[in-house]
Amino acid sequence: MTCYRILGEGSYGKVVLASHPAIDQKLAVKLVQKKRVFKANDCNAIFRERDILKAARESPFITHLFGSFQTENHLIFAMECLSRGDFFDTFVEGAPFPENTIRYFIAEMLCGLQFLHSKEIVHRDIKPENILLDDAGHIKIADLGLAVSGVTESKRIEGRAGTILYMAPEILQRLPYFGMADYYALGIIVYVMAVGGHPFLSCDESSEEILKKVTTLEPDYPEDMDTNLRDIIERFLCKDQEKRMRLVSEIREHPFLQMVDWKETENGKSPPPFPAGNLSEEDLSEGVPVDEFIQSVDRGKRIKPEKQKEFYGFTYVSERLKLQPVA
Ligand code: ADP
Ligand code: MG
Repeated sequence: MTCYRILGEGSYGKVVLASHPAIDQKLAVKLVQKKRVFKANDCNAIFRERDILKAARESPFITHLFGSFQTENHLIFAMECLSRGDFFDTFVEGAPFPENTIRYFIAEMLCGLQFLHSKEIVHRDIKPENILLDDAGHIKIADLGLAVSGVTESKRIEGRAGTILYMAPEILQRLPYFGMADYYALGIIVYVMAVGGHPFLSCDESSEEILKKVTTLEPDYPEDMDTNLRDIIERFLCKDQEKRMRLVSEIREHPFLQMVDWKETENGKSPPPFPAGNLSEEDLSEGVPVDEFIQSVDRGKRIKPEKQKEFYGFTYVSERLKLQPVA
């Protein structure tokens, strides 16, 4: 593989634009340091991320994993490259968004989230940084690093995970929770898209203040907001997860989504409303070999040889990867 530049960085990994002579499309390669995996004290987490990406491979709304492999000090995911980057930039620059854009965003996000939930997967870190746009402007949910499988209404999980601004009241209150927490995070994003700011939080509250605000305050809505849009946000942001579940059970039939053609949307045929992003052709002439690139960005993080066995069996290749003969 040849690497070109860093596409993005999260709290666990660096994601790098890369190419491979046998693969006729650009790759996004997520590098996770083995050192870091040990530090988090949960080697299974990286296998979980891989297995959930595998389980999600049929959905066009989840970033596709082509394969996983490892070097001495890194675990690596090779994914489809979403060159328009994450939704964060679009989001920050664009709010408040027109209703049509919000409708489109909700519809595609619902396709992705309902797919994950149908596989008993809860994402737990739905936020703009983890929502990517493909070349055409369709939505792809990324970063399944905190996702957990085997979670349903009757098999809930516990444990605080995620990003505070998007964390559902039940997670902040340390109650057992399930997929409804993802709808809440979606509600926060939609509120910001419609209004231009977070419904409850700034950035400087203490954790007690956050807990109090998120569990007691109701958002303010502008007077001129479309009543159906307001109603759908209120459903997503319902504080009680049991009630939220009832409120979103028929969400595709909601009046705000009445004009959505669900078949077209599910098939990725619905024309995206997002303005053209950085669609410019990448200059792929100045690349460096993957190991050299890793050296330059993540030097000196070696792990002990006896610890390598924790990562046996990490390699995976997707059946969708069409390898071309290399000259
Ligand atoms: P972390 O688990 O560290 O948060 P992510 O998987 O969220 O890592 O990736 C970090 C950032 O890299 C994302 O916020 C996004 O900007 C970028 N990124 C991730 N995956 C891709 C991809 N497939 N194509 C393009 N950019 C990506
Ligand atoms: Mg992330």
